[in-house]
Amino acid sequence: MAEKTPNQQLAEKLLFKPAYVGDKSAAVKQEAHAFAEGYKKFLDAGKTEREVAAESEQMLKDAGYQQFDPKKTYAPGDKVYFSQLGKAIVASTIGTRSFEDGFHLVIAHTDSPRLDLRPTPLYESDHFSYFKTHYYGGIRKYQWGTMPLAIHGVFSRADGTTVSVNVGEDENDPVFCITDLLPHLGAEQGERKLSDGIRAEELNILIGSDAVDDEEVKEAVKLNTMILLNEKYGITEKDFARAEIEIVPAYKSRDVGFDRSMIGAYGHDDRVCSYAALKALLELETPTKTAVCMLADKEEIGSMGVTGMQSAFFDTFMEDLCESQGVALRVCYESAFCLSSDVTAAYDPNFAEVYEKRNDAQVNHGLGLCKYTGARGKGGSSDADAETVAYVRRVMDEAGVVWQIGEMGKIDAGGGGTVAQYMANRNITTIDAGVPVLSMHAPFETVGKLDCYMNYLGCKAVYLA
Ligand code: MN
Ligand code: MN
Repeated sequence: MAEKTPNQQLAEKLLFKPAYVGDKSAAVKQEAHAFAEGYKKFLDAGKTEREVAAESEQMLKDAGYQQFDPKKTYAPGDKVYFSQLGKAIVASTIGTRSFEDGFHLVIAHTDSPRLDLRPTPLYESDHFSYFKTHYYGGIRKYQWGTMPLAIHGVFSRADGTTVSVNVGEDENDPVFCITDLLPHLGAEQGERKLSDGIRAEELNILIGSDAVDDEEVKEAVKLNTMILLNEKYGITEKDFARAEIEIVPAYKSRDVGFDRSMIGAYGHDDRVCSYAALKALLELETPTKTAVCMLADKEEIGSMGVTGMQSAFFDTFMEDLCESQGVALRVCYESAFCLSSDVTAAYDPNFAEVYEKRNDAQVNHGLGLCKYTGARGKGGSSDADAETVAYVRRVMDEAGVVWQIGEMGKIDAGGGGTVAQYMANRNITTIDAGVPVLSMHAPFETVGKLDCYMNYLGCKAVYLA
């Protein structure tokens, strides 16, 4: 090979060009593919925040984590967790250093955009029965038509007991759907704006067409459906008002591409980071600083409520831990570091016009570090300082984590936020990082396996820093 010219050498030294992770090491591809198998199982086991919390709790128990007892004092190496109402989880492995020195936190969210049932969802129209829905989080409504849907959730019954619902996942189950117009009659609908392609009040789930055989009954199809639900779940129509029923795509996660280099699934945002954050925690022995993994609910609708990242339950858990060592919570927070582990937009060549390629994360180019998120001039973002970016870059580099810089496309194309701000507001130094996603918030999102793996290595590096 010809010797490099001085300018070629300078270019190597001074310029930066992110590279495809697999090009740097072939061995890492194998590791990433193996990691993806566990992740896909996690995805298929948890399609709602409750299911992810239950699955996570099981993984914690299997790894020897005990239910947190605020009256107890814990020793280095002890493993504890707390489940908030079965919908959010915080787990910790106690480190050797005092809580005064702060914690290492990785935070992700377990809720994903979906369709929720309304409190009075069941109705009949022209010999069909339907559920009315209320969408949860930022969805593109037109994407939810004509695909197999599953129904997940819980009913609370009059006697205070609850019953879980999960229909559409087993291959012998029926599925449900939202119908759309045939192209032959779609001329007028085709003129609608894309955001109105299917309107919120048209997101009605088709659930039946059979009727009870009784001419005296007015709503015979609705009644027929209700009889089936009553037989199976012991509920009446009024019980929908005390239920939490979520409509999600009925399919399982799948490899994408002839090379199987990507994963397509519902709910990568943000279960891809939830899995990485949890799995990395489970594999720790005794860290120096105490490691905390928080899997929060309600991020997609603003992190409000008792199970969201703004809830005081997180502070209560942390304060109870700190008190056991006689350390003030504010002192611990002051020295803590948090990786806000959430997905970012992946550059999509198919829609290149809304991206800023130099600053956007690319699939399988590594963990995406986001100094800030936000919209319209960083609005609503916590914008990490240079020192924090330097710290996390050093941690990633030392652990051999391939990372890239991520932003959310062209500045005024839109934007978005994460839970980073709620951690930073607590006076915890925080930065966003996560996996780049194609078709984010769609019923079928796509991620790169190498990024999933680098994200997990990144979470581990933060716990162990
Ligand atoms: Mn997210
Ligand atoms: Mn999201």
